Amino acid sequence: MIPERYSRQIRYAHIGEKGQEMLLASTVVIVGMGALGCVSANELVRAGVGHVRFIDRDLVELSNLQRQVLYTEADAAESLPKVFAAADHLRAVNSDVEIEPEFGDLNSGNIDALFRGADLIVDATDNLETRYLINEYCVEHSVPWVYGGAVGSEGMTAAFVPGGPCFCCFSGHPNASRQGSGRTCSSAGVLNTLTATVASLQVTEALKILTGSASVRKDLLYMELWDNDFYPIPLEKNPDCPVCVHHRYTYLGTASGTQAISVCGKNAYQILPSARRSPDFQALAERLSGLGEVKVKAYYLEFDSPSASFRLFKDGRAIINNADTEGRAKSVYSEYIGGL
Ligand SMILES: [Zn+2]
Repeated sequence: MIPERYSRQIRYAHIGEKGQEMLLASTVVIVGMGALGCVSANELVRAGVGHVRFIDRDLVELSNLQRQVLYTEADAAESLPKVFAAADHLRAVNSDVEIEPEFGDLNSGNIDALFRGADLIVDATDNLETRYLINEYCVEHSVPWVYGGAVGSEGMTAAFVPGGPCFCCFSGHPNASRQGSGRTCSSAGVLNTLTATVASLQVTEALKILTGSASVRKDLLYMELWDNDFYPIPLEKNPDCPVCVHHRYTYLGTASGTQAISVCGKNAYQILPSARRSPDFQALAERLSGLGEVKVKAYYLEFDSPSASFRLFKDGRAIINNADTEGRAKSVYSEYIGGL
């Protein structure tokens, strides 16, 4: 017996009862819970995808609320991790769906665990490295994924299915495409109607794939919303693609050492130590208390002094503020937190 809540979707001929049952039995993983992730999660949970897991490492901020439709002023005031705020709101919408929030970053070391059992991946990230990692995993494990990108009023979306062209066929070798335009939402801004449009198109493809439809998009759709341009770009398999033809991976299966990632739009670095362990917040707070101001919160420890300022999370990663270089950020980590 299918619940009444899905009646409008079941009456839609291309989904029907059979399609709804397929959705209820599906597991989808959403990578990133910013604007695209919020819209995707909202639609997938309301559509009755049975298991929805989402991964994100950020806390809710006031500047998110313009487009990240699952969060409230209260979430921003409490600096809640996005995944927990989203999980709370979505559980109130559909308690039948199993919602699994994962607070942290996705990397080659944890991707097997975080993508376990996934029937489909929604790419809602804002960085190319993670997208390449998703692409390599999905090629290797024959998992379909839906791509989305949005900056300013310009967006793109595509569905990548096993056997077809992959993201690397379209965008070239990971090492070559690192010199992108460098435009980001922090520097160029973004329309909330664009992120809603791109994410809804991604979810539409996801629903088709999960219900076995033959109408899955085979091209990449490019759009410029402000100028009213929408046009498809053909996707073709590159016969020499390093990923889907030669299975040579740049990100998947690589042992990652300590990583320092520049935080978009801020003079800060995120440090991801190679050996992850949970820091003892109380012991660290005692040690740091003579050096500056320490606050221990539910999800993180915050330290501030004239010479160093950072936020340390329970999985060992930290955002080092006021750091001009990667080296400076790593040395603050070693000196104040230790264990790098
Ligand atoms: Zn390829």
